[in-house]
Amino acid sequence: MTGGLPDWLPIREQWRGRSPYGAPQLPVAVRLNTNENSYPLPDEVALAIEKAVAAVVRDLNRYPDRDAVALREDLAGYLGYGLAAGNVWAANGSNEILQQLLQVFGGPGRVALGFTPAYSMHPLIAAGTGTGWVDGHRGAGFTLSADLVREQVAQHRPDVLFLCSPNNPTGTALEPDALLAALATAPGMVVVDEAYAEFRRPGTPTAIGLLPGHRRLVVTRTMSKAFAFAGGRLGYLAADPAVVDAVQLVRLPYHLSALTQAAARAALAHAATLLSTVDAIKEQRDRIVAELRAMGLTAADSDANFVLFGQFPDQRAVWQALLDRQVLVRDVGIPGWLRVTAGNPAETDAFLTALREVLP
Ligand SMILES: *Cc1c(COP(=O)(O)O)cnc(C)c1O
Repeated sequence: MTGGLPDWLPIREQWRGRSPYGAPQLPVAVRLNTNENSYPLPDEVALAIEKAVAAVVRDLNRYPDRDAVALREDLAGYLGYGLAAGNVWAANGSNEILQQLLQVFGGPGRVALGFTPAYSMHPLIAAGTGTGWVDGHRGAGFTLSADLVREQVAQHRPDVLFLCSPNNPTGTALEPDALLAALATAPGMVVVDEAYAEFRRPGTPTAIGLLPGHRRLVVTRTMSKAFAFAGGRLGYLAADPAVVDAVQLVRLPYHLSALTQAAARAALAHAATLLSTVDAIKEQRDRIVAELRAMGLTAADSDANFVLFGQFPDQRAVWQALLDRQVLVRDVGIPGWLRVTAGNPAETDAFLTALREVLP
């Protein structure tokens, strides 16, 4: 047996001994480990989604709109910047979007570059699509300068360059000049993963404003975080219409169910209500940063709905001690550091109380 799978199973050699992605889903009181929005959907939105889903149930004998045009129009309208349905593509979570991008722009013989630590799924999706992966590095304090981007892009000439802003797990936004350096030097596609864009602080730009004039730029977004729609599975990208056309080559026909399309459109029609929790979450995030610093810990200002904090001689022991107190945070595998999601005030209280007990 390797990695839990029996030797007789003729899997590709690259999977031998590997483990699947597995953020623990544990039934504890305070779950702050996957950056979900802690607030359940408000009644008004829940009822609208129920109604929208009910309206398509009797037509489930038919395939859904393969191109999800109405949903893409709604997403373009939400993004603004003069974008239209032709600039937008949607799939079952932005992870599927990333997979489709690597299927069409990566693959065997091609290379993707990312700057570690960043979203752990980028290298996993590269592996799943047979794309080579280069673990690029950051500077002190996990920063990423324009020079570091330029040097590593020149060295590796990636077919796909991954940037993540605000970055998971550091919570920090990409410096605008680092993005401009990437766009000026990258020979292939530049993918900016903006899963947490709605949580960014005032003055932090989105890469969407750079789409005109940068045809190989792709910005990915998701409804999983700010929109409190992680269970609905809806991610999307904004790009040049040629990129959207290219992705159609690899998407499975009818990949986005009629139920998903209807539910997501109903949620988007109530975007303002759904996003009304964002400010409250940002308040808890800033409170967490301030309180952690007051405890003598290190935490960078965050543009996301989570905070990376440290440093601990043994972060695994702290993770376990918090779990023993019913608080689940994330050990992202960086020695000395842990990541906590900003949720509601009671969850922040529970986290801070538990952490104070745990710290020497
Ligand atoms: C959570 C997250 C995603 C979202 O994935 P979905 O498949 O849309 O749920 C994408 N990128 C990053 C960096 C994330 O943290």
